[in-house]
Amino acid sequence: MTDRIIPLRPAAPAVRPLPLAGGDVASAPEDRLGRPLRDLRISVTDRCNFRCGYCMPREVFDRDYPYLPQRELLTFEEITRVARLFTGLGVRKIRLTGGEPLLRRDIEALVGQLAALRLPDGSAPDLTLTTNGSLLARKAQALREAGLQRVTVSLDALDDAVFRRMNDADFPVAEVLAGIEAAQAAGLGPIKVNMVVQRGVNEDEILPMARHFRGTGIALRFIEYMDVGATNGWRMNDVVPAGEILRRLQAEAPLHPLPPGAPGETAQRWAWADGSGEIGLIASVTQAFCGDCNRARLSNDGKVYLCLFATEGHDLRTPLRAGASDAQLQAALGTLWRGRGDQYSALRAADGAAPDASAKAGDAGTAAAAASRIEMSYIGG
Ligand code: SAM
Repeated sequence: MTDRIIPLRPAAPAVRPLPLAGGDVASAPEDRLGRPLRDLRISVTDRCNFRCGYCMPREVFDRDYPYLPQRELLTFEEITRVARLFTGLGVRKIRLTGGEPLLRRDIEALVGQLAALRLPDGSAPDLTLTTNGSLLARKAQALREAGLQRVTVSLDALDDAVFRRMNDADFPVAEVLAGIEAAQAAGLGPIKVNMVVQRGVNEDEILPMARHFRGTGIALRFIEYMDVGATNGWRMNDVVPAGEILRRLQAEAPLHPLPPGAPGETAQRWAWADGSGEIGLIASVTQAFCGDCNRARLSNDGKVYLCLFATEGHDLRTPLRAGASDAQLQAALGTLWRGRGDQYSALRAADGAAPDASAKAGDAGTAAAAASRIEMSYIGG
């Protein structure tokens, strides 16, 4: 077994200019693999108050970590404008993420601006947010009033000691559960809870978590630990495959498969046979779902990424701040999407899920490319 190699700092992401010249304003472009654009994930901050080892390990994201200064972040007006342009290209769903999105000051104001957007058919986009739940008890009501429709809360364990160890910020489970309750009371539903499962870390929490959320109307989704970013020292051995998670759940009580809720949905849905709700499995490592991936990502400093495992982004902020017109920007984003061929996870799977196989999904077939993958806290989970 090889030792983990954890770089001191993530490499600066490679950046390309947005392809501004030419391109028509196609209203619903498809990429090179015939995939439409439907889902936009917006990272609103690169900061988080948790230090989960699989995402923002404390050894890397320490006191001296060079977080982006405020001026580098897109303003709420800029984010809303970009989101509006994306809705013109087919985006129907907008998810705010980060970093921890509730740490961004006045996030409710951004929610309000995005909630006022209208799709070409006159309906509102599906507007949601992923949070670690730490500030949710305080903010749920205001977020709902601003127009947020629902939330996804990350929670990796019910056992307080396990959870505190995993978030590495000594944050108690009880406060996240209080946040979930507040979200329910505010009508921010249906609520989803995401649990990243790591071998030997929280796999014993699979059943307690399933029991806790069964019958509550909250869908618990188990996420395979992914080789995203370059700082978490990921190894295939640390992944608990979704198939194994399902077997453990089925030993508890029967489950039957449900059809996908929407095209491009990340989770495989399963229902408890007794009608006590559903669970989801996000098998991004062992059963890649690139084939219908319809997501684009906007980083907090205005770069567009076409894959969670991308090694380069396209700079939207420069033309945005230099006075480019809506038509120019939208045409460029359409051109970008039409040129998209990313299918990182599928290629990784075809290559036997070796960590360094990752590089082959980008351009260079080397571990160097794996080391230059973008951190999830920057690109948005
Ligand atoms: N701070 C927010 C939160 O905790 O939900 C939003 C950002 S976080 C990056 C979004 C989601 O990505 C969380 O559910 C988190 O558990 C998940 N995540 C982060 N790193 C991951 C990894 N290496 N593998 C699988 N999921 C990961």
